[in-house]
Amino acid sequence: MAPISNSEEYDFLVIGGGSGGLGAARRAASRYGQKVAIVERSGRLGGTCVNVGCVPKKVCWNAASIAETLHDAVGYGFKIEQTGPFDWTSFKHKRDAYITRLNGIYERNLVKDRVEYISADASLVSSNEVLLAAIDGSNESKTVKAKKILIATGGYPDVPNNIEGSELGITSDGFFDLEALPQRVALVGAGYIAVELAGIFNALGSETHLLIRGETVLRKFDPMIQDTLTEHYGKLGIKIHKNYVGFRKIEKTGSGSLLLHEEVGSTPLEVDTLLWAIGRKPQTSSLGLDKIGINTRNGVIQVDDYQNTNVDGVYALGDVCGKVELTPVAIAAGRRLADRLFGPAEFSTKRLNYENVPSVVFAHPEIGSIGLTEPEARSKYGDSNVKIYKTSFIAMYYAMLENKGPTSYKLVCVGAEERVVGLHIIGLGSAEMLQGFGVAIKMGATKADFDSCVAIHPTSAEELVTMV
Ligand SMILES: Cc1cc2nc3c(=O)[nH]c(=O)nc-3n(C[C@H](O)[C@H](O)[C@H](O)COP(=O)(O)OP(=O)(O)OC[C@H]3O[C@@H](n4cnc5c(N)ncnc54)[C@H](O)[C@@H]3O)c2cc1C
Repeated sequence: MAPISNSEEYDFLVIGGGSGGLGAARRAASRYGQKVAIVERSGRLGGTCVNVGCVPKKVCWNAASIAETLHDAVGYGFKIEQTGPFDWTSFKHKRDAYITRLNGIYERNLVKDRVEYISADASLVSSNEVLLAAIDGSNESKTVKAKKILIATGGYPDVPNNIEGSELGITSDGFFDLEALPQRVALVGAGYIAVELAGIFNALGSETHLLIRGETVLRKFDPMIQDTLTEHYGKLGIKIHKNYVGFRKIEKTGSGSLLLHEEVGSTPLEVDTLLWAIGRKPQTSSLGLDKIGINTRNGVIQVDDYQNTNVDGVYALGDVCGKVELTPVAIAAGRRLADRLFGPAEFSTKRLNYENVPSVVFAHPEIGSIGLTEPEARSKYGDSNVKIYKTSFIAMYYAMLENKGPTSYKLVCVGAEERVVGLHIIGLGSAEMLQGFGVAIKMGATKADFDSCVAIHPTSAEELVTMV
């Protein structure tokens, strides 16, 4: 049997083969020649993003967008008729095969960068020792030493533990295992994962119920985004159950469907699939953090601006630190950490600045957001220092269509120079649009800078540089 690891000691040992861990490990080995190993316990590299997150989600969003385009094509004069339902099962298997190919590419990248890939479950023994437990059922284990250890173990989707039958529901992980498209689905949650998956189900033909605690979805986003998307999802046919206060119990019927008994109301909602999208928790319970006294809050590892934990030589980043839970954030934090720890002296203060991180929601239509929301800016700078520019219009794409989607843009500006501290957009193409505007905002662009850029016509994006 092959040994769990090839060495007894490493310069840098990374726990977690997801976005952040891979970013740090590859940079440390390829650029700085460190002896690096990365430990992953799931049997496949890439973490949440590649296996049960961004990548398969975007493939599903693409399928959903194609379904919408097929409807729209008729408005443009095409004589298109769908002759059968969407073939979810073939689509799912093809998508899985794509992910498996990506897993292989990630493994080959590690070989190329001379990072040792250890397939094991890792836990801390001391601040420079890690226990590796085999995941092949052999009960084998081995303790290795490391000069520096990085924890990048990510998170997992939460399921309520106080509702009878809550285990009958799936989470975003289970979404990617569905072998058939459910006819009726209920999603609980108002965050971006709930919104994205609800949009996919609805566009592909499921009767979709979205249960949200408040009046709007995406409560952390600018109110314009919340209101516009909530209203439009209703128009698209998603049944939004507002002010949801919880289920009393969930029952499985003889036919396999689920009866969702709400705390209030007597008629249960009957669906084929229930999906919890109520938040994510850090993956830290089995790491032995308490053995070496690493500070956590509700399981979230506490780090300073440089990804240092309170224990010398042990670092943490990505979702396990609960700051900005996005793949490029984890990768950037990982690369900067490797630069700081192993790079030249001028990199000794390198760190990720978590301000002005652009983020996108692959809803229908897409949403892009960077910087402060209007309420955040008003509370930070005071009403009199904030100027808002807004526009709402019908994008030209809809000119030929009966059913029109919304487009709304907002710029949040502060001070006499009208520095743009927030940009919020909802409408077709918003995801691709945001990246370039993100650069401008990162550079401190003012409203006058936006205005000085000549518009590109005819686009929706031109409205962002012509606002009055
Ligand atoms: C449905 C969904 C959609 C998403 N969509 C997007 C998106 O569109 N854009 C975006 O930027 N982000 C998106 N995200 C978020 C993104 O996936 C995460 O922010 C990102 O993966 C975090 O990277 P990470 O390195 O911190 O953790 P992860 O990628 O989760 O990697 C952690 C790895 O550590 C391993 N591990 C855990 N414990 C141990 C242990 N004890 N020993 C060994 N290995 C261990 C896990 O198996 C896992 O592979 C999405 C997430 C979800 C759930």
